[in-house]
Amino acid sequence: MTFSDFDINPLFAQVLAREGITVPTPVQAAAIPLALEGADVTAIAQTGTGKTLGFALPSLTLLSEGRPAPGRMLVLTPTRELAQQVQRGMMPLAKAARLRTTCIVGGCGFGPQTQDLRRGVDIIVATPGRLLDHMQRGNVSFDNLEIVVLDEADRMLDMGFLPDIRRILKDAPEDRQTLLFSATFPKEIERLAKDFQYEAERIEIGAISTPAETVTQQVYTVRKDEKKELLAHFLQKTGVETTLVFIRTKHATDRVAKYLRSHGIEAEPIHGGRSQAQRERALDGFRKGKFSVLVATDVAARGLDVQGITHVVNFDLPKTFEDYVHRIGRTGRANATGDAVTFVTPEEAKDLAVIERGLGRSIERAVWEGAVPVASHAQRAERPAGGPPRRGPRRGSGGGRGRRSGTRQRAVQA
Ligand code: AMP
Repeated sequence: MTFSDFDINPLFAQVLAREGITVPTPVQAAAIPLALEGADVTAIAQTGTGKTLGFALPSLTLLSEGRPAPGRMLVLTPTRELAQQVQRGMMPLAKAARLRTTCIVGGCGFGPQTQDLRRGVDIIVATPGRLLDHMQRGNVSFDNLEIVVLDEADRMLDMGFLPDIRRILKDAPEDRQTLLFSATFPKEIERLAKDFQYEAERIEIGAISTPAETVTQQVYTVRKDEKKELLAHFLQKTGVETTLVFIRTKHATDRVAKYLRSHGIEAEPIHGGRSQAQRERALDGFRKGKFSVLVATDVAARGLDVQGITHVVNFDLPKTFEDYVHRIGRTGRANATGDAVTFVTPEEAKDLAVIERGLGRSIERAVWEGAVPVASHAQRAERPAGGPPRRGPRRGSGGGRGRRSGTRQRAVQA
């Protein structure tokens, strides 16, 4: 794919080609078509992913199709440096489309900024504090505002800019387009998106650094030789709908899928040792609900985007905290709730500690009859000698799920 494949201003592809930029990054590939349609977009993407062009290309295309007017686009950023960087990044495109830009930040005189604003520029890139100063002086109005970009929104909230953002956008036209970029997606950003956007399309690029809060997490302590039984039991007894089971090795993946099938549970394995056709068939069947359990290795599950996974089971522990976050992020997507359960044997106590350190807290232990002591604070429970697990989990499974807001999501894994 190249930039010419998008319906952007044809001059822009030429400008980029001169800078050696020809292939869109994942955030650009995902955001540009949506923003060109005029949709509100929430993009979870870090700096360095190409997000500036991700919003500049569609926005400036739309602006170049309309009539010049003061304050048609506003980009809010947390810092002076970022504002300047964003303006610099947009400048070649703005020039090509004959759109005027200004950068409104603190630390420099009001004179030239006031002149720019009073003369009327199409695009204002600003930090919230200085922009408010100008608004209070009557130097700028947002009657013509068509597009708002909240860049590095999580940092703006961290820096206490929320009241300023509210004041700035209080009287902005409601039919504007709002694009929100954030490296993380905590509750506060979700709230911000709800307050300032309308039916936003959500896109997510690359690694997620913290697990979504919509995913409940539980640990099942278990003896190694009882894991398979516990899994079969868990899948049958908990009102589990669509489950992704993670296993470290290819062979164990096959073995466990076979075991589940022999116990009447429709399960398919997916791992790097299977042919492309087999993998595609497995994925397709899982997506279409032909079977409800997919047993996967980490590698095979990378980039897996299946909506509606209600449960993730870590049959064994992932190697790293990042893998853990990545695994459990397969559920709880699109604002749905999800449950992630992790089976931990006494031998895996150290690996669990790594994950809990990453989370900054310990994960709740499920109370069940086959539980074994794993860590000093693990819950001890009596279990019948040698017997297989007989009871399902008491907490944190099933429960209400479903979409909680009008936000739609498209996940794009880089
Ligand atoms: P950003 O994430 O917007 O700060 O961009 C980071 C850097 O990547 C900037 O120097 C851009 O010029 C560069 N860049 C953006 N998009 C592309 C692309 N599609 N191909 C190559 N470089 C890019």
